[in-house]
Amino acid sequence: MDNTLFILLSFVLLFVIIVVFALLLIKKSDTISILTGTLNKLKTSFNDLDEQAKLIVKTDLELNRAQEELDKRIGGLESLQKISRLISTTLDEDEIFHRLDIALKSDLGFEKNLILIYDKEKRIRVRSEDGFSQDELRFIVSNLEKDSSLIAALGEGHTFSSVTSPAQRKELIVGLFNVEHFVISPVLTQNGIIGMMFVGNRSNALSITEGDEELISILANQIGQSLENARLFEQVFTSSQQLETKIQDRTKQLATALEEVQKISKTKTEFISAVSHELRTPLTSIKGYAAILMTGKLGAIPDEVKARLEKINTHSDNLVKLINDLLDISRIESGRAEMNYGKCNLLAMIENINDLLTPQMKEKNITWKTELAANIPEMFLDSSQIERVFINLVGNAVKFTPIDGTIQIKAELDAEKVTITVSDTGIGIKEEDILKLFDEFYRVENEINLNVKGTGLGLPLAKKIVEAHNGQLWVTSIVTEGTNFHFTLPTKKEDVIKKESLET
Ligand code: ADP
Repeated sequence: MDNTLFILLSFVLLFVIIVVFALLLIKKSDTISILTGTLNKLKTSFNDLDEQAKLIVKTDLELNRAQEELDKRIGGLESLQKISRLISTTLDEDEIFHRLDIALKSDLGFEKNLILIYDKEKRIRVRSEDGFSQDELRFIVSNLEKDSSLIAALGEGHTFSSVTSPAQRKELIVGLFNVEHFVISPVLTQNGIIGMMFVGNRSNALSITEGDEELISILANQIGQSLENARLFEQVFTSSQQLETKIQDRTKQLATALEEVQKISKTKTEFISAVSHELRTPLTSIKGYAAILMTGKLGAIPDEVKARLEKINTHSDNLVKLINDLLDISRIESGRAEMNYGKCNLLAMIENINDLLTPQMKEKNITWKTELAANIPEMFLDSSQIERVFINLVGNAVKFTPIDGTIQIKAELDAEKVTITVSDTGIGIKEEDILKLFDEFYRVENEINLNVKGTGLGLPLAKKIVEAHNGQLWVTSIVTEGTNFHFTLPTKKEDVIKKESLET
């Protein structure tokens, strides 16, 4: 019994131990699974952290690279600005390349630099280079001259670089210029491509970026503009020099021609003066003898002879007047004429002219009008000479104005001069005749002139008299409507004599 109880108790104990153990085991496995979960979570977090660390490193690297690119670009832009300023402040082509020679080496930082430009004969010339051997340069130039495909592509405005060029073009450029990395850009003007700019590096460590491509493209463009400005300036400069030479030659020719004209004019004046003097003496005798004959002291004169003698007298008078006019013209022209300047009342003079010519005007029923400014001052002039001007102008107006016409004299005053206008409602003067009107002996071909005698000396003499007073005389006219002769006279004494005192 005791044994059985003992066995029973042992079983119960064992059962209890097993249950306790089982319970302990269940609890432990729970803990293990919790721990495993935690461990997995830790692993995931660790992986995440690892990923983030990698990302940070990557981003840092990219940032560094971007910073480097940015620094390079800033450096490039500074160089670009400096070179642009250097080449745009000169208008001499050789000086532009001289400055580029220095700047490309020191500022751009490429191993090889080259600028090729067409010369006037359209041949490619090396204008600036660095880092190339002479053989390399010869090879490049001769190849470009042989194969124009690259130049044609550049001519369309494209810039090529080792970063963006298609493989075939890249291979060609790399081989031609003996580099690994490069940028080549056209030098363009308004008339198209005039050359190209190349930069490159041989070492793989010095690669080229898109920023470099942009920079070289801008610089090549700037070189094109500077060269165009220099060439335009040279053109302008050359043509202005040619123009100056032409002007100098022409001026010399004109001066020689003027001298000739002055000589001829002097000879003419002297000739007229001499001939007039020579003519005046015998004419005076002819007039004298005719007068003696007419008195009848040398015998009775038949009426027919008397009429002829009177004609001799009249013609002699006309000839004397002509000779006197000629002498006056030549005297005034040569500055030998003595003007008797004095005070003069212009308005009174105009009244006198009216009185003098009233009979002729009455004959043709011509109306005489005046419009004279009341404030015309006392003038300083040679009255007898200015009277001759009036008589000639008004006399002509009467001569060339048909019956019932009008003649008007107008006198206006401004600060320094009086302007007198003698107007008529006569036949007028054609433009082409106006141009010759003041030439000595010029008379317009018209019916009046065919019937009325004249010398063609009145107007040249009038003009010379007015000019001797430092005034001007000119004419405006409308054919069949009438003619206006205008002349000015200075109001101040010093202005009247200024010209003469300058000449003497
Ligand atoms: P003349 O009267 O002796 O011919 P002038 O020198 O005084 O010489 O004039 C030259 C010419 O100018 C005249 O012959 C005439 O044809 C023209 N002329 C001058 N004044 C007038 C005028 N008022 N109207 C039209 N023609 C004129």
